[in-house]
Amino acid sequence: MTTKTQPVLRFAPSPNGHLHLGHAFSALLTNRIAHQLGGRTLLRIEDIDQARCTPELLQQMLDDLDWIGFEHDGEATKQSDNFDRYRTAAETLKQRGLLYPCFCSRKQIRENADARTDPDGAPIYPGTCRHLSADEISDKLAKNMPHSYRLNMQKALAQTGTPTWMEMEADLKTIHTINTDPMAWGDVILVRKDTPTSYHLSVVLDDAVQHISHVTRGKDLYFATAIHRVLQIVLDLPEPLYHHHDLIRDEAAEKLSKSKKAQSLKELRQQGWSAQQVRAAIGMD
Ligand code: GLU
Repeated sequence: MTTKTQPVLRFAPSPNGHLHLGHAFSALLTNRIAHQLGGRTLLRIEDIDQARCTPELLQQMLDDLDWIGFEHDGEATKQSDNFDRYRTAAETLKQRGLLYPCFCSRKQIRENADARTDPDGAPIYPGTCRHLSADEISDKLAKNMPHSYRLNMQKALAQTGTPTWMEMEADLKTIHTINTDPMAWGDVILVRKDTPTSYHLSVVLDDAVQHISHVTRGKDLYFATAIHRVLQIVLDLPEPLYHHHDLIRDEAAEKLSKSKKAQSLKELRQQGWSAQQVRAAIGMD
């Protein structure tokens, strides 16, 4: 029976490459925690990047998850079905003066940024377009110049104060309050040039709409939680508990990643690995 207080967790992969052991761990750990908490696990396909997320990769991802024994409650949902939800929220933020259009190219950002980098190692946006006048903005928009929309972080923080989040330890009992430093990210993009949203905006909206009570994900997203808390407060969304799990690393102690061509579950299967061997390799048997 589903009650309002039953924990709801989610696994939220992006089909923009093949899943590797790190994803398998995250998926099965989410199942395990949901089970231990007496909750449910939802599967959310994070496919806002319509150029990189292909139907073939999605099918492969679903087959891989099925193969390793990942279980989810109900139908999987796709973020590409929710673009209107993201547009509406972005519009609200624009009307409240918290978003501004940014016409900078990556090259311009690199050239204008100082040496500081964000927690992901990318240059912090130097704020160039934050200073455009209303006339300059209208002029560029009239010329159909490609643009994203960025969060004015300082302005948002003036409304939210410096948020905290609640981090649940692996014992599922100990909960710490974590202080955030959202300014370490600067003015993040909330609406990309090519799509009416961004990871940060869509993840907080969908977690809220799907009543996610516990967000379980890798430590690679630990610092991004600062941005998510700011957005949850300005958009008046509930605050979930977070658990950022350790990452599965390769022999060189590097985190596995799609971009570095970590060996995929598909390849392991082709090489004759059984699902049982995959689960044993990541301590999930
Ligand atoms: N879609 C994200 C990824 O594949 C995970 C999002 C999340 O769990 O917050 O890295």
